[in-house]
Formats: sequence, structure tokens, C-alpha cells
Amino acid sequence: MSSPTSAASGIEVAVIGAGIIGACIAHHLTRRGAAVSLIDRDEPGRGCSYGNSGAISESSVAPMAMPGVLASIPGMLADPRGPLYLPPAYLPRAAPWLARFITSTRADRIDAAAASLAALHAGAVDKHIALTRELGIPEILAQRGHLHLYPDRKALDKDAGAWALRKRFGFAFEQLDRAGIVALEPQVGPRYQVGMFLADHATVLNPFRYVQAIVKAGSDGGAKLVRQDVSRITPLAERRWQVQYGTTTQTFDHVVVAAGAWSRRLLDPLGVRLHLESQRGYHVQFLGGPKVVSRTVVLADRKVFVTPMEDGIRAGGTVEIGGLSRPPNLKRAGLLARITRETFAGLEQVESTQWMGHRPCTPDTVPVVGAAPGNPGLWIATGHGHLGMTDSISTAERIADGVLQAAH
Ligand SMILES: Cc1cc2nc3c(=O)[nH]c(=O)nc-3n(C[C@H](O)[C@H](O)[C@H](O)COP(=O)(O)OP(=O)(O)OC[C@H]3O[C@@H](n4cnc5c(N)ncnc54)[C@H](O)[C@@H]3O)c2cc1C
Repeated sequence: MSSPTSAASGIEVAVIGAGIIGACIAHHLTRRGAAVSLIDRDEPGRGCSYGNSGAISESSVAPMAMPGVLASIPGMLADPRGPLYLPPAYLPRAAPWLARFITSTRADRIDAAAASLAALHAGAVDKHIALTRELGIPEILAQRGHLHLYPDRKALDKDAGAWALRKRFGFAFEQLDRAGIVALEPQVGPRYQVGMFLADHATVLNPFRYVQAIVKAGSDGGAKLVRQDVSRITPLAERRWQVQYGTTTQTFDHVVVAAGAWSRRLLDPLGVRLHLESQRGYHVQFLGGPKVVSRTVVLADRKVFVTPMEDGIRAGGTVEIGGLSRPPNLKRAGLLARITRETFAGLEQVESTQWMGHRPCTPDTVPVVGAAPGNPGLWIATGHGHLGMTDSISTAERIADGVLQAAH
């Protein structure tokens, strides 16, 4: 993490949401002298940050809305077993977001999004190495690279745009044949013949424990942890803000909305419009059994991340645009289990748990990080989509810099 450049002694800041984003912001602001209240209705880290794949994917500069994705939209509506699914009944609700998503596939918008993502991702691996050391948990981060797998050259070509963007932004990777794949990960089944290896990428081996350690560091440094559901944020005179939770209202100099996929519920009443949709993702976690991978392995044709977590192999992925209210469709987690068992031998009899989380997604993939226009003292930190673990520290730096500059 960057060293404190200016102190914020006495500034009172509410950070709403104790996922990886809010946790990092609270820790960062506390280190820089702010009086922080970190407010979450749930145990910190139990939202989307709980069950993700932990990949610190600094080179993922290609937005979701690449031209090839457009061709898959009709299939999204039809196939509940596909990697992308939109239940037809949710289409009218998703339509405005989808329309923006489609216009984000214009070449100039892809270039602009990639540049914004590269700027936010910059230095992510080094920043997480430094933070895990500072927290005294260096073992939670493994820098063993990420291996992306394809059945053949044709499948790799479908992702050519994303690899070209990685190259353009200066990321190093190596193409591997079957022998190269097996040399790194001997358990990979014969379906996969072509690999792309990003040697310097890293993985957090227990995202939930990581968030909890960051929250603890914040509270050891003086942040107050409040377990309450925030119902309303209200602007007051003299650029102060009132935050209402339970039967309490409290006044702050600054409020940071880091409430993940739920952020619109707090911002809409203030007239602050975000284009945010939940991309529901699932994981299946194998409890024990063989360690079939030793690093993040991406089954790229099926959009599944297989990760060696501290507590067993986790297979995460799939996108379901179905909103915040419907119950999880655990058949989608079952699909991840089937794909993982098909790819790696030895998991057939191993018990597993299933989980669903709400990725907060913008149409152009670029997170919303900064001041809420026209609302001095109100800050937004959400929309991190598939890359919230990766971008958490850069986000915290940007928000802390903004709050401190505004305070001086
Ligand atoms: C299957 C899957 C795999 C993923 N893999 C990766 C990966 O490998 N690498 C990566 O970088 N990212 C990954 N992600 C994305 C990453 O998990 C998210 O971007 C990130 O967790 C978002 O963090 P957040 O803090 O914004 O949201 P959350 O973790 O959801 O936190 C938001 C918090 O706000 C709280 N909250 C909401 N409303 C209120 C309210 N009104 N009052 C009080 N509290 C409130 C919630 O309780 C919650 O704790 C993955 C996601 C999924 C689903």
C-alpha cells in the first residue's frame, strides 16, 4: 500500500459495506488518520467477496463487452446451462443495462474501457503482496501465475481480442502446448491442448479470511465496526451527511458507498444514477480430495476458474443476469461441479458446497470510483464486477486521496 501522504485527523467518514472494497477503504482511511465507521448489515466479507476465485488478474484489461459476446446474447436467453444466462422473465428489468452493454462494444469504447481498467489494475499484484505482508498473512497469497486453457487453437482464437489487449498493455505471457500444460499442472485432462501462461499473476487463497484480516487491521487502527443495515443517506447543510441505520442517525463529513451490487438502493433516492446490474456468479467448493491444481487454472472455453483454496479446490464462474431478489439457481453451481469433475480426475466422490454471489457490474466493465457528481462529501466505490479483489487496494487509494484532498 502507498504510504500515508497527508493526515486526515478528525475527519469523520462512514464507509457503507464491508466487502473487500469497503474493508480496504476503511483500512486505508484509518491509516491516514480519519475517524472511520465501517457499516455492514452482515458479517464483514460475507457478500460477493466471500466466495470469489481470489485471482489477482492484473492483465484482465479486456472489458466484458467485447464484440464476440454480442453473438452470445440470443443464446443467453435460451440456455440455462450456458456460461451466460439471462432468465427471460428478467429481460425487461435488464434491458436498459443490456442496451448500454451493447453500445460498449464499439471499438473506441473498448479502447477507453481497457485504458481505464489498466490504470486501475496497475501494480495490483505488488500491492496485494505488500498488504498481506503488512497484515502478517503472506501465506494467503500465492504468486504462481495463472494458466488459461483452451481445447485447441480455434478456441484460443475466439479470445484473440483479449490477448491482443494484454499484449498492447505490456503484459507478458507464454503460449504452451499440451506438454507445457502438463509440466505445470499434471492433473489437467486431455480436453485441453493449448495454454496461455501469465507467470507473474497471483491468487488469494482464502478471500473471506483476507477481508476479515483487513477489517481487523482497520479496527485495530481505530475504525469502528457497526453491524447495521443502512436505510438512508441524507445531505445536510454545510456539506455534512446523515446516515440512518436501525433507529440511529449519525452525522459524518464524508460518506463512501461501497455496498457492492446493492449500492443503487442507497444512491437512487439521492438522484445519483448508476448503471449497475448484478452478474450472479456461483462457486462449488470441494471439501478435501486431491489438490488437482496448484495455481489459478482458467478453463477459458467454459469460463470457469479452478483455484487451490486453503480449504479445498474451488471452481467459480458463470454469469447469470437475474437481479438481487431471486433465489440462487443452484443448478448453475452443479454445472461448475460437473465441468470440474470432467476436467480433473479424482473429484467424483468428493463432497462439495455451493455458493452464489452478486458481482456489481457496470455496462462497460469500468468500476465507479470517486466523488458523486454534485454531492460534495459523497463518494462511490462500486461496479468492480469480476475484478473486485484485484482492484480493491487501488480503489482504496483513490478514495482516500479524494477524501483527504477534499478535506484540506
Ligand atoms: C464466482 C465469482 C468469482 C469471482 N472471482 C474473482 C476473482 O478471481 N478475482 C477478482 O478480482 N474478483 C473476483 N470476483 C469479483 C469480486 O468478488 C467482486 O468484485 C467483489 O467481491 C466486490 O466487492 P464489494 O466489496 O464491492 O461487494 P461485496 O463483497 O458484495 O460487499 C458489499 C457489502 O455491502 C453490504 N451492504 C449492502 N447494502 C448495505 C446496506 N444498505 N447497509 C449495510 N450494508 C450493506 C453487504 O452486506 C456486503 O457485505 C468474483 C465474483 C464471483 C461472484
